[in-house]
Amino acid sequence: MADATFDCIVTGSGPGGYVAAIRAAQLGMKTAVVEKDSIGGRCLNYACIPAKAVLRSADILTEIGEAEQFGLTLGSVQVDYQAVQARRQKVVSTLTGGVSGLLKKNEVQVISGEASLLPPSTRRDGIESDQDRLISVLVGGSTLTASTVVLATGSVRRSIPGVALEGPIIGTEEAWALPELPKRLAVVGAGASGTEIASGFARLGSEVMLIEMLDRVLPTEDEDICRLVERGLKRQGLTVLTGTSIEDVQATESTVSFTYRDQRAEVDRLVIATGRAPDTEALRLQEAGVELDERGCVKVDQAQRTSRRGVYAIGDLVRGPALAHKASDEGIIAVEDAAGRQTHPISYIDIPRATFCTPNVGSFGLTEQQAKDAGHDVVVGKVPYGAVGGGTVYGDRTGLVKVVGETRYGELLGGHIVGSRATELIQELVNVRALEGGVPELARIIHGHPTLSEAVMEAARAADGWLIHG
Ligand SMILES: Cc1cc2nc3c(=O)[nH]c(=O)nc-3n(C[C@H](O)[C@H](O)[C@H](O)COP(=O)(O)OP(=O)(O)OC[C@H]3O[C@@H](n4cnc5c(N)ncnc54)[C@H](O)[C@@H]3O)c2cc1C
Repeated sequence: MADATFDCIVTGSGPGGYVAAIRAAQLGMKTAVVEKDSIGGRCLNYACIPAKAVLRSADILTEIGEAEQFGLTLGSVQVDYQAVQARRQKVVSTLTGGVSGLLKKNEVQVISGEASLLPPSTRRDGIESDQDRLISVLVGGSTLTASTVVLATGSVRRSIPGVALEGPIIGTEEAWALPELPKRLAVVGAGASGTEIASGFARLGSEVMLIEMLDRVLPTEDEDICRLVERGLKRQGLTVLTGTSIEDVQATESTVSFTYRDQRAEVDRLVIATGRAPDTEALRLQEAGVELDERGCVKVDQAQRTSRRGVYAIGDLVRGPALAHKASDEGIIAVEDAAGRQTHPISYIDIPRATFCTPNVGSFGLTEQQAKDAGHDVVVGKVPYGAVGGGTVYGDRTGLVKVVGETRYGELLGGHIVGSRATELIQELVNVRALEGGVPELARIIHGHPTLSEAVMEAARAADGWLIHG
């Protein structure tokens, strides 16, 4: 690759980077994406998409297991784990191929290699020329320049103190790509990723322990939701150990043993799912004049601008929840700001959160406790799926919709759903809030019948004081 000049260079082609690049190109910028690995970033290649592809196989297996309740008698069902993995690869290649196609269609140049920023050039006379305002990005032996650079290099796995991620001790990305179905699996960390892995592999046939140091699974979710998730996980045969940490981890080539609650366990794979760290190492940020915050994330303002003019940062590199859709939104904000468009800061409360374990969890905004702690006069509406026709018809009466609002203006402060399709249903609550609707408006929006979404409407009615079905 020869030296070249662009209007916008994006480093990293994950959901933050590729969306930023396409939006930049739409706004008329000559744009390049630098990617050191595979187009689509970790999200498409190793994380969100492969996880959901494998989970989909587990979900179908669960449904088959329930077939008799629906009057269907099936023969014995086998898990062909190699075929599950082959489908994962096919899903990934279809979607990453789609992203490559979109980049091409938008005339975004894709450059393979690892990018690092060069320090700003300094001139003795202190007068800055247009040339000085350009930011230089080093890729291999080539120097690329642009007036806008968007850093979108995502995050990397992180272990727990004293435990190296090697051999049978793996991170969450490796878990979804395991070549063989492990007989015994332990997952440390019952956040979204850990819980998805535990629920997925338990249903595919592994013997699974899910270990969480805090007092509940999905510790950042609303308490009512966590209770139902834990119950659902246990029904899948998982051993769920909350308030538990592991110590004295010893690995051989093919097994791992550790101590928990004064007992010793041995498993074939130990997955560490306790969080990730921003991938800043190769970027050489300090020398380039880009500041980090106290957590090691790139410091940004409300338009995703870093401390160096013309350099933006988005996605897992910056504050806020590590979610693909948040990364994409930040990418759009960054390049629209660079193009001189009026932007809006990302609205953290309006970011939906989805956990694709069984039972499914979707949420946004504040939990009931967080709303109370923030001093709101809180009103809650709770409706089980069984209260509406859809819950019984589709065979999930145990799901729950919980709406958290406040009494003064009926503002929607948070929404929490557990049960079938919760990850889809949550979007309605986010949309109502984003369009400045509240609990009373949601309670009066007509919902189709018989759908699970009627439970969302009924939860709003419950919060508004006039629950019909319950
Ligand atoms: C197992 C797992 C499951 C997940 N599931 C979900 C989910 O269901 N939904 C959800 O919203 N989020 C999920 N996440 C989180 C989600 O993957 C991240 O929030 C998202 O990928 C962040 O996007 P990004 O664009 O910031 O970075 P990434 O997707 O991490 O992409 C960054 C890219 O930058 C490249 N790169 C790094 N350094 C350089 C460099 N110096 N030069 C050039 N290229 C570089 C990397 O190779 C990578 O391709 C999951 C995460 C994990 C680990």
